[in-house]
Amino acid sequence: MTAHNSERLTGKTIVVTGAAGGIGAAIVGRLEHAGAEVIALDRTSTAVPPVRGFDVTDAQQWRTLADRHARTIHGLVNCAGITRRARLHEVTAADMTDAYAVNVLAPLLAIQALSPLMPAGASIVNIGSIAALTAHYPVAYTTSKWAVRGLTHTAALALGERGIRVNIVHPGFIDTPMTASAPDAFRSASIGETALGRAGSTDEVAGTVEFLLCDDAAYITGSEITVDGGATSHGGVKSISDALRAATNTPSITKESV
Ligand code: NAP
Repeated sequence: MTAHNSERLTGKTIVVTGAAGGIGAAIVGRLEHAGAEVIALDRTSTAVPPVRGFDVTDAQQWRTLADRHARTIHGLVNCAGITRRARLHEVTAADMTDAYAVNVLAPLLAIQALSPLMPAGASIVNIGSIAALTAHYPVAYTTSKWAVRGLTHTAALALGERGIRVNIVHPGFIDTPMTASAPDAFRSASIGETALGRAGSTDEVAGTVEFLLCDDAAYITGSEITVDGGATSHGGVKSISDALRAATNTPSITKESV
């Protein structure tokens, strides 16, 4: 974990979903180090770190959590997510329903249940994906991530009058259990499209989430932040640039050549 302010979330209670997963666990670690009290939720419960068994698609579980939690909630990170990798002609209704339940409905249920417990200055962070900005091939996953962008903007508008901020972070290729389940070609092709030429770490996503939760981001709401090593900024032309460099024998820019 990189160095950062170890007290800027002291006294804050923050709910994190998908807390047993790759990015979610890094977020929990980061927030606890910054002094927050974290309520860590995942359908997979773990003893260390303490993660409570919880199905984010179950509205009744959200209502129960809100009813039993008498104190103020200062932050919410909707990180739980699932992928479905079928393409346009193979995708099933079940793929669509499953992806939307976890990736779209669950953040909505969480916001409905917990935002009444939030004071002015509270912060909600949804975890999107660069799939939400592109024509990424897995249609259920991609459309669900585009939808959670819409939810983010709608919620930012609705909750703004109460001083509650809502933003979305779009990770690029990050090594986690989710991406480990994809074919190797997905990893190499993704890194090939990344300006920085490497995968991102879970902590690099967690650092941006921590920033959005703290008061340094007090005037940021309805914003989308990519943490993708430049994968989306070139608009899909990196492979063209790389191909022409190879075809014309143009040398890469090195430290020595500038
Ligand atoms: P991960 O390691 O698979 O973690 C996701 C966690 O969410 C898992 O522990 C998963 O449990 C849990 N979860 C799924 N459905 C749930 C439910 N109904 N209730 C409670 N928990 C549930 O994936 P990750 O890579 O860390 O992804 C975290 C988020 O980042 C996701 O929203 C993902 O779409 C997004 N993201 C990841 C990448 C990447 O490159 N890794 C890129 C862009 C966006 P199970 O293990 O039981 O499914």
